[in-house]
Amino acid sequence: MDHRTKRVAIVGAGTSGLAACKHLLPRGFRPVVFEAGASIGGQWTRTLASTRLQSPHVAYRFSDFPWPYSVDWYPRHDQVVDYLAAYARHFAVEERVRFRSKVLAAEYVGDAEATSAGWERWNGNGDAFGDGSGAWRLTVRHDDSGTTQVYEFDFLILCIGRFSGVPNIPAFPPGGGPDVFRGRVIHSMELSDMDDADAAALVKGRRVVVVGSGKSAYDIVAECAEANGVEQPCTMVCRSPRWLLHHTNVWGKVNIGYLYLNRFAELMVRRPGSGVASNLLATLLAPLGWLISKLTEAYYKKEIPMEEHGMSPDHRLARSFSSCLIGMLPERFYDMVKEGSIVIKKSRSSFTFCDDGLVLDGGAGERVPAELVILATGFRGDEKLRNMFASRLVRELVAGSPDTAVPLYRECVHPRIPQMAVIGYSESATNIHTCEMMAKWVARLLDGAFRLPPVRRMEENVAEWGRYMRRSGGAEHFRRSCLGGVSIWYNDQLCRDMGCDRWRKKGLLAEWFQPYGAVDYADIR
Ligand SMILES: Cc1cc2nc3c(=O)[nH]c(=O)nc-3n(C[C@H](O)[C@H](O)[C@H](O)COP(=O)(O)OP(=O)(O)OC[C@H]3O[C@@H](n4cnc5c(N)ncnc54)[C@H](O)[C@@H]3O)c2cc1C
Repeated sequence: MDHRTKRVAIVGAGTSGLAACKHLLPRGFRPVVFEAGASIGGQWTRTLASTRLQSPHVAYRFSDFPWPYSVDWYPRHDQVVDYLAAYARHFAVEERVRFRSKVLAAEYVGDAEATSAGWERWNGNGDAFGDGSGAWRLTVRHDDSGTTQVYEFDFLILCIGRFSGVPNIPAFPPGGGPDVFRGRVIHSMELSDMDDADAAALVKGRRVVVVGSGKSAYDIVAECAEANGVEQPCTMVCRSPRWLLHHTNVWGKVNIGYLYLNRFAELMVRRPGSGVASNLLATLLAPLGWLISKLTEAYYKKEIPMEEHGMSPDHRLARSFSSCLIGMLPERFYDMVKEGSIVIKKSRSSFTFCDDGLVLDGGAGERVPAELVILATGFRGDEKLRNMFASRLVRELVAGSPDTAVPLYRECVHPRIPQMAVIGYSESATNIHTCEMMAKWVARLLDGAFRLPPVRRMEENVAEWGRYMRRSGGAEHFRRSCLGGVSIWYNDQLCRDMGCDRWRKKGLLAEWFQPYGAVDYADIR
């Protein structure tokens, strides 16, 4: 196949888009990367001033591109941007990117929409490009020239990220929404989009209430508390506290990866598609998993005063890994709670607004006065994905329904959407590693190195992974599509498709007990 004749579009020049482009180039493809922003780096170009990687740099890296020696252990956001930009330059990805070019809509041209219901094989014949008659028509707004143009491509790779774009705003009862509040309400996304000086000026001296219990909520609260001190404490309103750790070494010695992110730990999980014997083993090992979780939880509860402040999570630490709900605590967080610059309020159910602040516990609890309310309530990645498409059918298919996990085979390809892949929707403990593995897999798929199974088998597989997501993430979090508890098992599937050895360590002990990371897959190019 002469790949130069195949037109491939990548949307997004964050971690996922860069990896996708990098792995297509050596195979002869010349993709066009459309990036709405003015630079490389995706969400790392739009963060709070204090945002750092939560993963150490040795874990958050591309397999074949090390960080410079001088970088911090947990790099600052600007260091992450520099790293990604250096990667793009080194692998000549940068020259493929068209900046300030926002894809407004993607529309499939061809009759696949009509026939996909009857497909036996993806795209009709199992080939990434189908029979060559279909194409994706992209409407792109170029901000530099002020023009909107339409392009056609033979394959579309969406790398649009999921932690930006469409905020998740809670629903409020009539008379209890932001409209009754005299102060200002913003979503954390708006704060991240501001430059650092404007963001600092916005919170300075104000009575700020931050709603949320994820990593962003903690970071915003810590920044506000640093800015305003005890004179104007920052209030954090949260419903279900999560595991936010002060460091990743348990008992000061054992890296937590040795307990949760190795092959042995995955044996304790009922992995999707793993068979009866494996499920039996997982059941037999469950008490060990429980013990490990109990011991690590006891350690963190002793080291971090979460119980004292009512911030003990009600779920197992192991569950945090398998539902991607774990994070690193901002420095001095509980010191600031103790000194009074942070006030924590728990709301058993959702909250409502009143004229001068919030009312907790569904509107029946304590009143919390505020001038500025920051909703750190997450994003609607599924909605963002849907919004890319012009066709109602594709919108309905691509992100599944509220009852299913996002239905992507190998977390990349929708069995009934032709000539399209998504990279970076599903999460893991280190997203850059997972999106790089997806990029390697998608590049080989486009290169014809392997074929996908019949649509029916793809859909069964998707359903099986969906059931796993539900088991591991629970009713509230399964649509996060978190691979955290089974990422080695997931990579095993990709390796099998790509014809690569899935056992990648030297020696049996290392294979079972060492944490796996990007470098283990560096030779898969
Ligand atoms: C505050 C924060 C901290 C995080 N910390 C970690 C961490 O420590 N470790 C970890 O593993 N993960 C972390 N993550 C997850 C992080 O999202 C991923 O690691 C990774 O950066 C995601 O990259 P991406 O390319 O998939 O998406 P993004 O970085 O969001 O990039 C998507 C790109 O697509 C562009 N785009 C979107 N729509 C369009 C369109 N229609 N047209 C053109 N361009 C478009 C956007 O402008 C953007 O540049 C963190 C996330 C957040 C929000």
